[in-house]
Amino acid sequence: MQVQFWGTRGSIPKPGPTTIRYGGNTLCVEVRTARGTLVVIDCGTGLHGLGLKLLLAGGKGLAGHILISHTHWDHIQGVPFFAPFFVRGNKWDIYGPKGLNQSLRETLAGQMQHTYSPITTDEFGATIRYHDLVEGTFDIDDVKVTTQYLNHPALTLGYRLEADGVTVVYCCDHEPFSRAVADGHGEFSGLDQRHADFIAGADLLIHDAQYTAAEYPSKSGWGHSSSEFVVRLARHAKAKRVVLTHHDPLRSDDALDRIVEKLKAELSADRSPLLVSAAAEGNVIDVKPSNAGPSQSAGGKFSALTSVEPALVRRSVLISVADPKVAKSLKKAAQAEGLRANFCSNAEGARTLFAKDPPSLAIIDLDIARHDDAGICEAIREMEENEPPVVAVAEQEVEADGIMDWLITPFTDSYARTKIRAWVLRAATSRVPHYSRKTTRTASRDCASSSPISDSG
Ligand SMILES: [Zn+2]
Ligand SMILES: [Zn+2]
Repeated sequence: MQVQFWGTRGSIPKPGPTTIRYGGNTLCVEVRTARGTLVVIDCGTGLHGLGLKLLLAGGKGLAGHILISHTHWDHIQGVPFFAPFFVRGNKWDIYGPKGLNQSLRETLAGQMQHTYSPITTDEFGATIRYHDLVEGTFDIDDVKVTTQYLNHPALTLGYRLEADGVTVVYCCDHEPFSRAVADGHGEFSGLDQRHADFIAGADLLIHDAQYTAAEYPSKSGWGHSSSEFVVRLARHAKAKRVVLTHHDPLRSDDALDRIVEKLKAELSADRSPLLVSAAAEGNVIDVKPSNAGPSQSAGGKFSALTSVEPALVRRSVLISVADPKVAKSLKKAAQAEGLRANFCSNAEGARTLFAKDPPSLAIIDLDIARHDDAGICEAIREMEENEPPVVAVAEQEVEADGIMDWLITPFTDSYARTKIRAWVLRAATSRVPHYSRKTTRTASRDCASSSPISDSG
């Protein structure tokens, strides 16, 4: 596979004298297989340059596939300016994460409404097909694509591409799930281990590394990684090469050089074979099979293109949290996603609710003072095959069984909405994720414990 970077900047385009070498355009990567299959990942302003190249190469009868990680501006702003969309006879397939209330097509059309744009998606001359994705696997010609949700305040998919005997993984935008892992001292477990499994053995990992470890604490919850974390992740996942991208708009070329030099020195001191560099606009990487052979193929048989609409009729969220402010914010987040929000404070209330309106997701706090947390968890487990995933609200992660994910307070409305959306969609696929329901170490009692993970290593 051949990979070319057309946009490497995160958040906002940043052209100018300080970003000449690494580039000022927002995210866009071109991937080509030996057979000629064209896959474009993300549509930041870098997409414009790619479009011109494709047109100059004879832009009629073009067919390509576009994978969109999520629909924040820096990943879609190039769409209205992609010249091959305006050529009759061209065929493009656009894939992106499925929403709950809005299709990918509607979301992309949103940024081209009359108020924002002189043209609308209806004016594209090419044949364009839109595909809403969930977690799973699908094929684009000779490329096997596996998708997995990342941790970001918008529903975001990472993409693992396998073709030509090599694996390329793209993860933008992403922040470690656990604060302890993000800080660099926690072990990979639960969803962070699942993220590492998704990357496992990649010949090339392209990963969000917007911040440095020193900057990260003040940016926690913004949905991005530090370069130090990404290198640690790549080593843990036994990736062969990592390219840092989604460069911060304030990061100069010289500052990026210094970051990469420091990481290289650390890897060399550790005699690590991992190659590290920062993505630069225009750079081409030929990804060749390594002596170790291809990495193990990822993903199961579940099609990422499956329509999960019929399974979404069960659209309610059970909320059991003591703090009225948190409860209000969760209710708002659930309703914004088009879900009913139901409340309960004890096991009996939970059982009555489950009989009337079985939830797709349960969000509970682990308040040791509220002794019925265990009772509510018991009532959830009694639902057996209809057991919803449980997300816990807490100030920090604690050791507890049965918790699938955490909402660490304080959290933003966007983060809450994204967690809710991801878990409702996962539940709707009826595909219990590959990892154990025990996302943390053994607890003294189910769904409740007060021992912080960070204290135990
Ligand atoms: Zn971004
Ligand atoms: Zn984003």
